[in-house]
Amino acid sequence: MTRSDSSPRQHHALAIPLPAQGHINPLMRLCETLAKAAPLYATELGIAEGEDGFIVTFLNIDPIHERLKELGGNKEHENGRNGDARPTNAIRKAHIPIDGLDLSNDFRMSIQRYLEAQASLVPAIDSTVGAADPPVTCTFNDFSMSSPSAAVRGIRRINLFPSNATTLLMLAYVVNGLLPLEEVLKVVMDPTMDTEAVFKEGLPGLPTLKNGDLLNIKHLEDENMFIYKFLTGKLKEYNEQSDAIVVNSFQELEPDSFAALSACLKVPVYPVGPLVGSSINLWKEDEECLEWLDRQPSKSVLYISFGSVALLSPAQFTELLAALESSGQRFIWVFRPGLIEGSPESSMPTEFLEKTKDQGRVVSWAPQIRILSHPSLGAFFSHCGWNSTLEAVTHGVPILCFPYFYDQFINAKYVVEVWEIGLLFISKLSLGEKGVVEREEIERLFKVMLEGEQSQKFQKNAIQLREAGRRTNLEGGTTYNNIKSLLKML
Ligand code: UDP
Repeated sequence: MTRSDSSPRQHHALAIPLPAQGHINPLMRLCETLAKAAPLYATELGIAEGEDGFIVTFLNIDPIHERLKELGGNKEHENGRNGDARPTNAIRKAHIPIDGLDLSNDFRMSIQRYLEAQASLVPAIDSTVGAADPPVTCTFNDFSMSSPSAAVRGIRRINLFPSNATTLLMLAYVVNGLLPLEEVLKVVMDPTMDTEAVFKEGLPGLPTLKNGDLLNIKHLEDENMFIYKFLTGKLKEYNEQSDAIVVNSFQELEPDSFAALSACLKVPVYPVGPLVGSSINLWKEDEECLEWLDRQPSKSVLYISFGSVALLSPAQFTELLAALESSGQRFIWVFRPGLIEGSPESSMPTEFLEKTKDQGRVVSWAPQIRILSHPSLGAFFSHCGWNSTLEAVTHGVPILCFPYFYDQFINAKYVVEVWEIGLLFISKLSLGEKGVVEREEIERLFKVMLEGEQSQKFQKNAIQLREAGRRTNLEGGTTYNNIKSLLKML
């Protein structure tokens, strides 16, 4: 397949998200931002005035498409009611079938099997490109997702790294050999090992890393060997054969990592974040908790959510229930179906619900961004998924960090040690098989986060970051300029 039309009147981007909650929204937000900004550069882009000069086809897999349709609760996304970055006609939806991926179990599955299933999509993606009208001029691909095959020529290829620059930099050091893969894997797979052998020299752009800070995938099983090979394989490919990597972070958040990335990758890297604010949900949002939140005193409520994949051990669950009850701490807790490790059918004990009915709300899925931007919110008890971290940062909310897997350890490290906007609850890696944080300690941590002198400091720092995040999107800000450069490059 070769594109002969070298000067299309319309730019048509095909966006290919990884089918997971934390990946769909940032890519959608990127598309919305580009489609909104494109008319501002109509002359440079060679498009007619008006928003249809830059259109996007957002390609979901069938199980996601069906799920969104059934939920029917993602109307904001359809109608363009939510947020100012959403143009009206520029984003079309399409969907393709996928073999071997059953999402009925949510994300309680092997990460390897989940990622390998995406590989079967390449022919359908190629066909979508081949049949597109107007012709596809570029793809925006999630970093871990399949992209059009090499046979598809004449399109720009841009990859979205939906995590932070520091994680990308670590992978880049593995790719260029400064961090030998075998050494990293030895350390990652044995939590008791000292990192001295791997990191003793320090690496430009990275904070001093300890074993527990590294990218680590232990969900239902240890899949580190696979994930490191998979991600570094993707990065090698994109470094050689793509036009840009865009990162959902902003320059001011990780200046050293971005500087080092430009020095060690061939492909240009653009910070284009914070890509926060789209509202595509794979679970139904409970909005009643917002009415309850409206009635709570300023900065008094703790929001508890561990995202869409992380699991909570039964023992930790028991301690958390007891701590909430005895502390009287106001809360909104996202108790996602399947949250409790080993007991996917568990539900919240009715006795706890009864005792805490005036003190908090338990929901199965929350309007997270509206909660984080609410004046009654005091702090966020989070697994530190990158989206949750960025959403807290852009709303000036301190975080109590309970990292579970993947990049969440490094995210928590930044929250605690670099940005100083929160505390570490505990990391799943150091928790071990049976370890738990006990109720008295949890109560103490809640107090420090919401009442103590330290909480003032966290809030002050969080507000500074929030403002930096706001400025980066304004005219002249780094992200603003990068969106412009990206459009011009297209
Ligand atoms: N989220 C939400 N409601 C919830 C819990 C999470 O809308 O009750 C959203 C949250 O705002 C974030 C995403 O789900 O955008 C979770 O992504 P993250 O990277 O934080 O974690 P993951 O789910 O990928 O582990």
